[in-house]
Amino acid sequence: MEENNKPVVNLISRPENMLKTIYTAARTCYSADMPINIYNSTDDEEKMLKLIERVVGSGHYSVIEHIQVTFAISNVSRACTHQLVRHRHMSFSQKSQRYVKEKGQFDYIIPPTIARDEELKAKFVEFMGEISQKYSEFVEAGIPAEDARAVLPNAAASSIVASLNLRELIHLANLRLCTRAQYEIRTMVKLMCDELVKVEPWLAPYLVPKCVRNGFCDEDKSCGRMPKLAQ
Ligand SMILES: Cc1cc2nc3c(=O)[nH]c(=O)nc-3n(C[C@H](O)[C@H](O)[C@H](O)COP(=O)(O)OP(=O)(O)OC[C@H]3O[C@@H](n4cnc5c(N)ncnc54)[C@H](O)[C@@H]3O)c2cc1C
Repeated sequence: MEENNKPVVNLISRPENMLKTIYTAARTCYSADMPINIYNSTDDEEKMLKLIERVVGSGHYSVIEHIQVTFAISNVSRACTHQLVRHRHMSFSQKSQRYVKEKGQFDYIIPPTIARDEELKAKFVEFMGEISQKYSEFVEAGIPAEDARAVLPNAAASSIVASLNLRELIHLANLRLCTRAQYEIRTMVKLMCDELVKVEPWLAPYLVPKCVRNGFCDEDKSCGRMPKLAQ
C-alpha cells in the first residue's frame, strides 16, 4: 500500500481506568464486598491482570463489555467501511455522500496491487477522473448529490467515527487480522489495535488473528500460520 493510500486511524476516546473497571466487574461476581469498595481498594496491576486473564480466558466476556473505545478513521475506501459496518455491535458516524457534495476530483484509494504497476495505476487514475467528470455533470444538471453518488466507486475515500466495546474489538481483531481478510480492512484494524495497545499494552495478546488465539486455523484456505484442525 502506498504511504498516502494508508488508513489514518486515531484512538479518540477510552476510559482512563480500563483495567480497574474490568477488574471491579470481574471481582464483583465473586465477592461479598460492594463494587465501589473493590474499585477503591485496588491498584495492584499484576493482581488485576491475573484475574482478568482467568475470567476472559474462561469465556466470561461480559466483564470486558464495560469498556468502550472510539476511533476516528479516514483515508479508507467505501469498500473498506462497507465491510466494517457489517459488525453489528459497533456504532458509526460516517461522512455522508448525500450531504457532502464532491467538489472537483473526489479522493480515492488505489489498491496496492494496482498501485505497484505504473501502467495499471495510470489507467485507474484516468478512470477516476472520468467518473469525477460524470459526477460533476450530474450535479451541475441539478441531480442531488444523493443520486449523483450512484456513479462513485468503491474506491471513493471516506471518513468514519467508530465506537465499540472491548469484547467486539477483540472479535473484530480475531476476524479481520486474519490473512483471509481483505488487505485494507486488515490494515485499518491493525492500526486500531496498535493505537489501543500503545496505551494499554496488556491487550496485545488479545488483539490477534483468531488462529493465534485458538492455536489452530478454521479457514477453508489456510495461510499456514497455524495448523488446520484435523478433519
Ligand atoms: C475473511 C472474511 C470474508 C468475508 N466474506 C464475506 C462475504 O463474502 N459475504 C458477506 O456477506 N460477508 C462476508 N464477510 C462478513 C461476515 O460474514 C460478517 O458479516 C462480518 O465478519 C461480521 O462478523 P460477525 O457477524 O461475527 O460479527 P459481529 O456482527 O461483529 O457480531 C459479533 C458476534 O455477535 C453475535 N451476533 C451478532 N449478531 C447476531 C445475530 N443476529 N444473531 C446471533 N448472533 C449474533 C455473533 O456471535 C457474532 O459473531 C466476511 C468476513 C471475513 C472476516
